Amino acid sequence: MFESAEKIIAGNWKMNLLPGEGLLLVNELVNNLEVQKTKVILAPPFPYLSELSKKLKSKPGFYLAAQNCHHKSSGAFTGEVAPQMLKAMGVEYVILGHSEQRSLFGESDEWIAKKIQNALIAGLNVIYCCGETLDDRDAGKQFDRVRSQVQTAFNKFPSDRLDQVVIAYEPVWAIGTGKTASPEQANEMHAHIRDLLAAQFGKNAAQTVPILYGGSVKSGNAPDLLSCPDIDGALVGGASLVADEFIEIVRSAEKL
Ligand code: PEP
Repeated sequence: MFESAEKIIAGNWKMNLLPGEGLLLVNELVNNLEVQKTKVILAPPFPYLSELSKKLKSKPGFYLAAQNCHHKSSGAFTGEVAPQMLKAMGVEYVILGHSEQRSLFGESDEWIAKKIQNALIAGLNVIYCCGETLDDRDAGKQFDRVRSQVQTAFNKFPSDRLDQVVIAYEPVWAIGTGKTASPEQANEMHAHIRDLLAAQFGKNAAQTVPILYGGSVKSGNAPDLLSCPDIDGALVGGASLVADEFIEIVRSAEKL
C-alpha cells in the first residue's frame, strides 16, 4: 500500500536516447541518488528494459516501467508488446493512457481501459495518465474531461486491485510546452480525482492511490508542486533526460 509520506518520481524517457546515452544516464542516477522515502521509476524505451532491469534490481527504491503495452497476452499483433512479456522481464510498472498515445495514435478511453485490465492480470502496476486539453480548460470543461477519462478507465475496475494503480494528472497543454499548471491548479484537479475515486471505491481506498502531476516539471518548480497536499509525486518527461535535473527533482521529493 502507498504510504502517504512517500513520493513517487517517474521519468518518462519517451522515444529518446541511444543505448549508450541511456546507460550513461542510468549510471549517473544510480551512482548519485540514495532514496529513503521516494520511489524512483524509470520508463525507458522498450529495447532498453532488459539492461535496465539488471541494473536496477539491486538499487533500493528504483523501479522499472514500460511506456505502453497491448491489451492481449499474445497473438498476431505485429509491433505490439504484451504486459505478460514485460512482467517476465522484470518490469514493474506500465504507463497507459499517455496523451501522446491518445492524440497521435487515437487511443480511446475504452481502449485504454482494456489495456489496464490486462496489465493488472499480468501483475503490473499501472500509471494511468489523464488530463484535459487547452480547449477543454478554456471552455471550463477540465473537470468534466478528467471525470469522463477516470470513470471510463476504472468503470469495471476490481477494488482489490487498487494497490496496483498510480494516476498521473497531466494537462495536455503543459506537456513538453514549458507551461506548468500552478500548484493550485494541479492540487485542485488531484483533489477532484481523489473525490472520483472515493465515490467509486470509498474514501479510505481513494487515499491509498498515489496521484502524480506531470507537465513540464523541472527542478525549479518541483518543490512547490510536490509540497501540495494532494500531489504524491511527479511524472517527468523532458527533465528526466538530464541527470542533474532529474536528481534535483528526486532530492526535492526526499526533502519533504
Ligand atoms: C510526459 O510526457 O509525461 C511529460 C510530463 O513531459 P514533460 O515533463 O516534458 O512535460
